[in-house]
Amino acid sequence: MTIRTRLAVQFVVLASLTLGVAFAVVYLRAAEFRQEEFLGRLHDRGVNAAKLLIQVEQVDDKLLRIMEGKSPVRLPEEEITIFDQDNVEMLHLGGNTGRMVIEPALVDSVRANGRVIRVIADREMLAFEFDDEAGRYVVVTSGRDIYGRRKLRNQARVMVATFLTGLLLMFLVGRVYARRALSPLQRLVVDLHGIGASDLGQRIMMGEGSDEIAQLASSFNDLLERLQTAFSVQKNFISNASHEMRTPLTAISGQLEVLLLKERSGEEYRAALRSVVEDMQALNRLSDRLLLMAQAETASAAMTFVPVRMDEVVWAARSEVLRADPDNRVDVVIDEVEEADDITVKGNEALLRSVVVNLLENACKYSSDKRALVSLKGSGTMVRLAIEDQGVGIAPEDRERIFENFYRARNTGGAKGHGIGLSLVKRIVDLHGGEINVQSTLGSGTVFIVRLHKAETIR
Ligand code: ADP
Repeated sequence: MTIRTRLAVQFVVLASLTLGVAFAVVYLRAAEFRQEEFLGRLHDRGVNAAKLLIQVEQVDDKLLRIMEGKSPVRLPEEEITIFDQDNVEMLHLGGNTGRMVIEPALVDSVRANGRVIRVIADREMLAFEFDDEAGRYVVVTSGRDIYGRRKLRNQARVMVATFLTGLLLMFLVGRVYARRALSPLQRLVVDLHGIGASDLGQRIMMGEGSDEIAQLASSFNDLLERLQTAFSVQKNFISNASHEMRTPLTAISGQLEVLLLKERSGEEYRAALRSVVEDMQALNRLSDRLLLMAQAETASAAMTFVPVRMDEVVWAARSEVLRADPDNRVDVVIDEVEEADDITVKGNEALLRSVVVNLLENACKYSSDKRALVSLKGSGTMVRLAIEDQGVGIAPEDRERIFENFYRARNTGGAKGHGIGLSLVKRIVDLHGGEINVQSTLGSGTVFIVRLHKAETIR
């Protein structure tokens, strides 16, 4: 069932309950009022007959029968019976078509209670005591309220017809209102249908209002914005990555093709193969970094975090950097710590090692003395790692951009690289909830400072 129909049905149910209860109350009140009024008339007729019979000497039961027989105020099918103090019937008027049976128990009940009301098959009966100086009489009057009941029935019919027509009208009006209220939502659905993965640049019209629908549209637009950014970052990443891979691959195949053009000397073959191996190693490093990047991208990496001692990470990274290029120099300064907890963080050991390796490799690569200094210490709730060099330095305008994928500043001076190391470093530090800053002076050196939360402070 659509929301529109559901709203209309709920509206009708609520309205019909209210209207139904109101009509029922009015009907019951009218029925009560009719009976009260008819009983009043029966009482007046009974009292009138009793007064004439008992208090007016000239009137006896025969004369009264004649008088009442012609009376224009007689009630339909009216019967009046009067009993004297000994419960002997003194008078009976009416009942031409068949008398109503009055059992002695009824008369006794009237004497005990003063008044008895009964309704027998649409016929109302009122029995009451009539006190006079001469004694206590019992008057039993009855009649059929043909007009009153017919009026009540008509009233009920009008009410039911009004109720049913009202329900139908309310359902139709409810649907129109629901359609109006939901039409912005309908528009939103149509707009959203029109947006595919290839045209994330589209936005939903929000209109003037600030209602819930406008808020929903604005949330959708925000989501589209984020998706579009993520898509374009991914697209750029893939095209940059394939470009970076193609360059060494083209170089390798070019060198091999030139080598095969003619017969070469052993030395020429060796030189060419050495260059190919270098390119292959660069390719290898690039693919390693891309793999780590993909790993750092997934939230599942954060799920496998364990306590990691950063001093061990630093030593392992140092060995890796020295193995990659024996000309590199790495000095390590680790503050004396009372407890291992002081330099233990919660994280992924392989990813954290690649942070230190990348920063160390850069420090060596971009300094003429190929020397880097790592210092590690616990400071408050954080572990602080600094990688320092006395190299070329980074220009202020490049300092923010060096963390972007594939960005390389102009200071590289022919050093090989792909511009992916620092973006990988930043991503891993972010994944660990830490922060990274760079301080640098062109021509005199650079310090990268990484701060990570101590494991004990993370619950
Ligand atoms: P690359 O493969 O080019 O080294 P990175 O992402 O590691 O890529 O670094 C991005 C850029 O930041 C480098 O190209 C270089 O211009 C600059 N850079 C990084 N580390 C240093 C450093 N220690 N000294 C000077 N410049 C640096």
